[in-house]
Amino acid sequence: MTRVAVIDADKCKPKHCNSLCHRFCPIVRSRIEAIRFEADKAIIVESLCSGCGICVKKCPFNAISIVNLPDELEKDCSHRFGPNTFKLFRLPTPSPSTVLGLLGQNGIGKTTTLKMLSGEIQPNLGDYENPPEWDQIIQHYRGSMLQDYFQKISEEKLKVSHKPQYVDKIPKAVSGEVGELLEKVNERDKLNEIANRLELRQFWDRPLDVLSGGELQRVAVAAAICREADVYLFDEPSSYLDVKQRLEVAKTIRSLKDAQKTIVIAEHDLAIIDYLSDQICLFYGEPGVYGVVSNVHGVRTGINIYLQGYIPDENVRFRKEAVVFHEKPHTKSSDAGETLLAWEQIEKTYKGFKLVAHAGEIKRGKVVGILGANGIGKTTFVKILAGIEETDNRRKFDELKVSYKPQYISAEYEGTVRGLLMSVAKEGFSSSWYRTEIIQPLKMEPLMDRNVTELSGGELQKVAIAACLSRQAEIFLLDEPSAYLDVEERLSMAKVIRRVVESRNVTAFVVEHDVVAQDFIADYLMVFAGKPGEAGVANPPTTLRKGMNMFLKEMGVTFRRDPVTRRPRVNKEGSKLDKFQKQIGEYYYVRTLRK
Ligand code: ADP
Ligand code: ADP
Ligand code: SF4
Ligand code: SF4
Repeated sequence: MTRVAVIDADKCKPKHCNSLCHRFCPIVRSRIEAIRFEADKAIIVESLCSGCGICVKKCPFNAISIVNLPDELEKDCSHRFGPNTFKLFRLPTPSPSTVLGLLGQNGIGKTTTLKMLSGEIQPNLGDYENPPEWDQIIQHYRGSMLQDYFQKISEEKLKVSHKPQYVDKIPKAVSGEVGELLEKVNERDKLNEIANRLELRQFWDRPLDVLSGGELQRVAVAAAICREADVYLFDEPSSYLDVKQRLEVAKTIRSLKDAQKTIVIAEHDLAIIDYLSDQICLFYGEPGVYGVVSNVHGVRTGINIYLQGYIPDENVRFRKEAVVFHEKPHTKSSDAGETLLAWEQIEKTYKGFKLVAHAGEIKRGKVVGILGANGIGKTTFVKILAGIEETDNRRKFDELKVSYKPQYISAEYEGTVRGLLMSVAKEGFSSSWYRTEIIQPLKMEPLMDRNVTELSGGELQKVAIAACLSRQAEIFLLDEPSAYLDVEERLSMAKVIRRVVESRNVTAFVVEHDVVAQDFIADYLMVFAGKPGEAGVANPPTTLRKGMNMFLKEMGVTFRRDPVTRRPRVNKEGSKLDKFQKQIGEYYYVRTLRK
């Protein structure tokens, strides 16, 4: 067994813990010490550590993780940042004219991998003290596609274009207007076509720092595609985008294949990574501790393996339970359950925008998914039901208690996650129901003593969801709860919302652009149509199948269900099934094809 010990430097505070790890470590004798201190931080010497795990239990701040891995993995280490940091094993092998999708949890090494493929990080094969030279790295990867890849990177013969993960950071590094900036990188003479496809013209003359997240994302994707390069890397290209924009971005990225480019993407929206990729590499391990890159699989098998949690060719089970999708009954009796809230036609006018929501109603114990473009009035509708905004005729919804999680969450709370949740859930916080239905499935325990202001995007999202569901309310409104979450977190978020709604016999509205997550979460769907930024029409809640059908028809895409996992899959445009489903008007899978 080989040992990987990781210490979270932010959590390790020897002055506040009586150095408990050191005091209780059995391998601390006069001269041999498995734990020592440097620059006021604990350091575990892996070659001396027995892997007993005592320090992990003794550390009051949960700073230490120790894992024991098979010895044969050690020779496959591709990178480590420094002592007791995250360790990555193996690398994916990209190839020309292929879109390779990287799929895995947050903190498992996908961004690190993309940075290595871009040349931003030189792989050190785990030796951070004496990092190898390029010739040693190339030698290490001999016999694989990576030998040639790193040979060219080292000689600067491979041009790489990279769309980074955090697009909201771009305006801090680059300034100028959208059009002018894109003209500068128009090396392939494709800007006109891409600007039209991604609808960039509406904000062509605006400076980057006034753009919304979705606008910045499209500019960043466009900039990456416009550059002339051999390799194109995209880190989470669907964040902040609505379904139509996600599909458009996916199609635009795929068009690079025609130019024989090598394309690699990391993405958490299962429908989008499925649609985009030809091949899939899975990342498994323990987030923040170590990550292993799997062999390459075909896209369908790769995603199914991921959901099943078991890689047959490597005989590795990386998750205890498989993720299972269920086809819901397509015509649930619409009068089942007690009506919780009914509304007459709602109108709301802002300068330049009008929303009309047709009369509708919602039932107790059901989740209503909301689908529609960005800027079509979804948040406005949600705010009206939440009593935050009035309708044009001054109706204010205040008869039901509402708990609302907005789209953009800010970390203003001064204190720990525990303090925040206790203040919201009150006496409910200590109940076993709260622990088993909210804390455990959202994996909140490790976050409890962290300061809310120091959380990452995904961590903050989980806290905001938990806080929203902690309130005693009859209507929960969650706006884009999947933003920043990985696939597993999206599905557990969906389960948590469903269970809270069912067990308390209340209801939830969930605005969500991830179709697979929406399929998992919603009993009914509200589809918003119209012209973004000008006029929105909210259709009444209808069954998931009817709603999806209505929505997908407008998008011009059809879905089928995977026969093994029952997950929804986008049909390739113009395929036999796509044409057939469009012809019979069944955009959201054909029931008769069910096995
Ligand atoms: P993913 O993209 O899969 O979410 P990342 O590649 O961003 O994962 O990160 C994997 C792990 O590596 C995380 O635990 C992260 O904190 C750690 N990490 C990333 N960059 C550094 C660095 N420069 N020094 C130390 N640890 C790092
Ligand atoms: P969505 O949630 O579907 O993205 P929103 O409901 O946030 O859409 O916004 C719909 C439209 O209404 C947008 O054009 C937005 O700029 C406009 N809008 C939203 N809130 C206000 C407001 N308080 N004042 C003026 N315009 C607004
Ligand atoms: Fe203290 Fe934990 Fe750091 Fe050890 S790892 S010094 S127990 S905070
Ligand atoms: Fe010491 Fe055991 Fe911790 Fe290793 S795992 S550092 S041997 S206490």
